[in-house]
Amino acid sequence: MDLDNILRKFTHFRRRVGEFLHHSSLSIAVLTMVAGIVIAYLFLANTTQSLTNQTSQINAQRYLEALSAFRTLYTNEVVNNAIKQNITISHDYKNIKNAIPLPATLSMALGKEIGKFQSGAKTYLYSRYPFPWREQENKTIFNQAFSQQAWESLTKNPEQAFFRFEEVNGQMSIRYAVADVMREGCIDCHNNHEQSPKNDWQLGDVRGVMEVILPINKAQHSAQTSLQATFIVLFSIIILITFLLFLFISRIKKDAKKLASSNVEMQKKQQQVNFANEEMTIAIEQLEFKTKELINSNQVKSDFMATMSHEIRTPLNGVIGMLSLLKQSNMTHEQKHHAQLAAVSASSLLNLINDILDFSKIEADKLVIESVEVRLDELVAHLSATMAHIAHEKGLELIVDVSKLKHVITKGDPHRIRQVLTNLISNAIKFTASGEVAISTNIEIVDKKHLQFSCSVTDTGIGIAQQKIASIFERFTQEDSSTTRQYGGTGLGLAIVKKLCLLMGGDITVTSNQGQGSTFSFTLLLEACDQIRAELPQVDLSAYRILIVDDNKTNREVLYSQLTLWGAKVSQVDSARSALSCLNEGLTETDENVFDIAILDMLMPEMNGAQLGQQIRANNKWQNLKLIMLTSLVRPGDAQYFTDLGFDYSLSKPIITADLAKALVFVSNKTESANQQQLLPGKKTNKPITIKPLPKSTRILLVEDNSINQVVAQNLLQNLGAQVAIANNGEEAITMLDKDYYDVVLMDCQMPIMDGYTATKTIRKSHQGYQDIYIIAMTANAMSGDRDKCLAAGMNDYLTKPIDTIALEHSLLEALNMPFEHIKTIKNADVEQNTLSSEKDAQTDEVWGKKAFYKRVGQNQALAQRIATMYCQDMPEEIKKLSQAITIKDNKLIAAIAHKIKGSSANIEAVKLAHCALNIEQAIKENNHAELELLSIELNESFNEIIVELESFLATTE
Ligand code: ADP
Repeated sequence: MDLDNILRKFTHFRRRVGEFLHHSSLSIAVLTMVAGIVIAYLFLANTTQSLTNQTSQINAQRYLEALSAFRTLYTNEVVNNAIKQNITISHDYKNIKNAIPLPATLSMALGKEIGKFQSGAKTYLYSRYPFPWREQENKTIFNQAFSQQAWESLTKNPEQAFFRFEEVNGQMSIRYAVADVMREGCIDCHNNHEQSPKNDWQLGDVRGVMEVILPINKAQHSAQTSLQATFIVLFSIIILITFLLFLFISRIKKDAKKLASSNVEMQKKQQQVNFANEEMTIAIEQLEFKTKELINSNQVKSDFMATMSHEIRTPLNGVIGMLSLLKQSNMTHEQKHHAQLAAVSASSLLNLINDILDFSKIEADKLVIESVEVRLDELVAHLSATMAHIAHEKGLELIVDVSKLKHVITKGDPHRIRQVLTNLISNAIKFTASGEVAISTNIEIVDKKHLQFSCSVTDTGIGIAQQKIASIFERFTQEDSSTTRQYGGTGLGLAIVKKLCLLMGGDITVTSNQGQGSTFSFTLLLEACDQIRAELPQVDLSAYRILIVDDNKTNREVLYSQLTLWGAKVSQVDSARSALSCLNEGLTETDENVFDIAILDMLMPEMNGAQLGQQIRANNKWQNLKLIMLTSLVRPGDAQYFTDLGFDYSLSKPIITADLAKALVFVSNKTESANQQQLLPGKKTNKPITIKPLPKSTRILLVEDNSINQVVAQNLLQNLGAQVAIANNGEEAITMLDKDYYDVVLMDCQMPIMDGYTATKTIRKSHQGYQDIYIIAMTANAMSGDRDKCLAAGMNDYLTKPIDTIALEHSLLEALNMPFEHIKTIKNADVEQNTLSSEKDAQTDEVWGKKAFYKRVGQNQALAQRIATMYCQDMPEEIKKLSQAITIKDNKLIAAIAHKIKGSSANIEAVKLAHCALNIEQAIKENNHAELELLSIELNESFNEIIVELESFLATTE
């Protein structure tokens, strides 16, 4: 057997032992406990036994010692004295008179007596040399083995007590025997006693044996009983513990078993999972491989498609071009027809190829989405307008609602947005035989940088079957095979649209009911542009009552909401007949309720818009009613035709907000100029409609000390649509900027307390929120160099007084970052012109430029009166102050007053006076005192002239 084998066997044995110990742990524990207790019991029982024996032995020894001591004492003290006094000493002392007992007899009697109390103790005295009276008794005693052995032992070794435990009369007792040695006091008596069996006793001889039998049963019993009781309790506890242990261990074993079985189960499961995992890893690897293959083949396919469609497109363009040339040549009717069919087929083929090219580009990830500025409202409106004629040719209403887009400017890919819209709108038109196609739009702010554009195209066409809806955005999906036959198309359009929407961060959905129409809704995530502040032009229609006549409800609602947004009182009817009765009612009501404008749709059942217009124009009572025609099909000469019918304006559908605004302004201005005399009484108050370029929310701080200038500028700004607050000087302006938010500051340069330059510098250094606020200088200093001075102080732009509305408007739009094309084009030319014109005008000797003044106050008569009155009140005082200053030659004061006079006069277009004041300023600057006197006279004359003019103006207007 080699070492390995031994080691293996040992390990095996150890494992077996371990298993045995593990399985029988409870039994071993119980057995060990029981064995321990048994051993302890035996040990304790034994110890108790020997302790009891020892105690009994000592008791017996003490007992016999006491008895011997008594006998010795009795012998020495009583018997010896009695001998001296001749007192009889006899064993038969009870029968002899005056006799006392022998010491042995008395001892026996005492032993007997004690035995009565000592729970059965018996005392014996016996000898092989008994007195005759005790011979019989001794013989009986010596019949017992113990007595014989005790005699033997004690005669040989009198010092060593002899004892044994044995049962006496059924009771376990100790038999304890000591030698009864011959004592000095006894020798004589024994040797001399006549009946003594032996007469040669010597001191120390063993005369006999003194034995005591003491029952030990009781003590032993009680010790044993308590021991047993203790062990019974102990056993019970152990049984209980064993039982509990058994329960506990069996529970643990049960749980362990369960655990083990679930462990096994788990291991099995783990194995299964591992297996599945391995399978999955293999599958993933295969999938990755397949995906790569697929991507490669897709790429190859897409590349091929892209190249192919591009290659096909080139000759196809040639075909189309040639066909169009062919169509222009002289051909028979049939040839033309064939060429036409060929052209249609070629253009469908081109469409298909374009779609394939797009699709393959998207699939190959080659389509790049651009990000440039887009005006969504314009994009949607213009696109719809270009598609409107197709709808109108089919007799469909094309309704576009871009009112919620509010001139929002975003960044996106206009080409792709147009592509999505074109697809949806052309589908809607294609699949709708009658009714309408409505495009509604919305824009929502997603976060600081993003906007969500949502748009839905709803039609009243053939609709899509429910089972087809789910797959409608898949490529080459068409409603059914007859669709291609009836409607043409490639079945690629919606697939491209869906992909484009996804590429632009949005999605597209469709809801449809067969036979009732469909709604395609898509969203796009677009980047926000700083220029989002732009809003719709603010047209004020509050003084107007407008009637909409259109059979199409959606169209009416779009118009209604736009017009009411501009403040008009709007009524709407769906037929010409209702329109006539509504117009009649309007006349019977108060003047306030007379309709000012009627917008008529051309295509209506029963009576169309043109016929209605004719009827209205035929009746004199509605001669002041302005008529706007809404047409669908615009043909050359339409506009003239409608003008001839008596319409004031004709608009083509879909209606674009800006066009509508233009139309309204146009018709209202016509009212003002040409028809002013014919206005109905009470309706004269109709204001002309103006388009305000600034959003209502624009807040402007006007910093100006001159009260006339304040009124003029405030009025100009309010007319542009802004909110205005006024500060009288630079210091006040800063306090106001601290308290409120403003978009722009219009800053006069020369002011008391703090001038415009200092105020601007303070603002720029302030580190407050308004530190970078846009500041436009407004100054009457039109000299060269003044502009640079303003810009150097930190102002952003520069306007000269008197303020020109267009220049102001332009400057403000630039400040607010709002493009306004028509203004942009006149920008530089006009601003320059303005500066020059004030000087040029001044050279002409015009006392009062009334027309220019009226223009400045927006033809507002009341305002013109107010400003003229203020001027007439304030100016005499200023003129007087100037003369005094000239007299005392206070140059600074002269310059300041002249400046003020110049500003106020320029504002009211007191051209000559303003020019005089300018000359005075100039003279002071050049230190030309000689001319001052002359200029002063000229100024007074001019002032008198203007005052005369203004007073007569006030007198006539009051
Ligand atoms: P197609 O070039 O055929 O129009 P599209 O992908 O644009 O391809 O449209 C797929 C199909 O979806 C169409 O053939 C038509 O059956 C259905 N469809 C699309 N738009 C509409 C709609 N507005 N009304 C009804 N069916 C539509």
